[in-house]
Amino acid sequence: MAGQFSGKVAVVTGAASGMGRASALAFAREGAKVIVADVVVAGGEETVRMVTAAGGDALFVKTDVSKAAEVKALIDKAVATYGRLDYAHNNAGIEGTVAPTADYTEEEWQRVLNVNLTGVWLCIKYEILQMRTQGGGAIVNTASIAGLTGFENFPAYTAAKHGVVGLTKAAALEYAKAGIRINAVCPGAVRTPMNERLIGGDPKVAAQMDAMQPLGRRGTSEEIAEVVVWLCSRAASFVTGLPMAVDGGMLSGMKAGE
Ligand code: NAD
Repeated sequence: MAGQFSGKVAVVTGAASGMGRASALAFAREGAKVIVADVVVAGGEETVRMVTAAGGDALFVKTDVSKAAEVKALIDKAVATYGRLDYAHNNAGIEGTVAPTADYTEEEWQRVLNVNLTGVWLCIKYEILQMRTQGGGAIVNTASIAGLTGFENFPAYTAAKHGVVGLTKAAALEYAKAGIRINAVCPGAVRTPMNERLIGGDPKVAAQMDAMQPLGRRGTSEEIAEVVVWLCSRAASFVTGLPMAVDGGMLSGMKAGE
């Protein structure tokens, strides 16, 4: 498809669902060829079908982002298929068990850190190794507002997402002169399968969550995808190392009377 990313190649992890799927579709709409990465095969293949149906070009590569060999194979496959790698949206993530810090098991702590933090680091590592050979690129990591403020009963998630923000800043400094911009998007409450799991499919809880938002509603995956595309675009050429809240105003402060 013709567009601002025509001739470019993008990798999106966690692209079988939610924000990753929306991001894959948005990159394709802008003309990029897209590598859809996820552990879930059916959802990943469905995203590819959606991209193709919209006139784009995409490929699914089953990838567990917490496994170095699989991440390396993902980037190798992207380059072998499409010849280059220009953009990456490191978005795969899990919410983990909802429990306070002292009730967390070591196993669950490690599982959440492995996917949400080590997974992002592994992706950045192999993406940078390729982008360096091409003279540049742009990477967006999905953190969360839980990467900017505490999130009760999500200790591993909060720690991992703060880690993603820190890693984004450090890596952005290291590779700025190599022409690689690295930013993070920090979504607030967004209506995705993950969000649905957290509210347990309860319309009352959903309504409460909407009412808590300054804009009076949760965000959509497409609203996050637009920011990811913008951060990768030439329009954001002076933006790097930024953890950007896309949260409908949630982190702006408390409303009077609360
Ligand atoms: P989602 O559950 O719909 O999508 C997450 C995707 O990641 C799934 O397709 C899942 O299969 C994939 N995934 C999980 N573990 C993986 C692994 N090891 N390797 C590869 N893929 C893996 O959730 P979403 O809401 O679209 O979440 C996307 C990102 O946004 C996550 O990093 C999440 O933490 C973050 N986030 C979500 C919200 C929200 O309100 N939904 C808010 C802030 C941040």
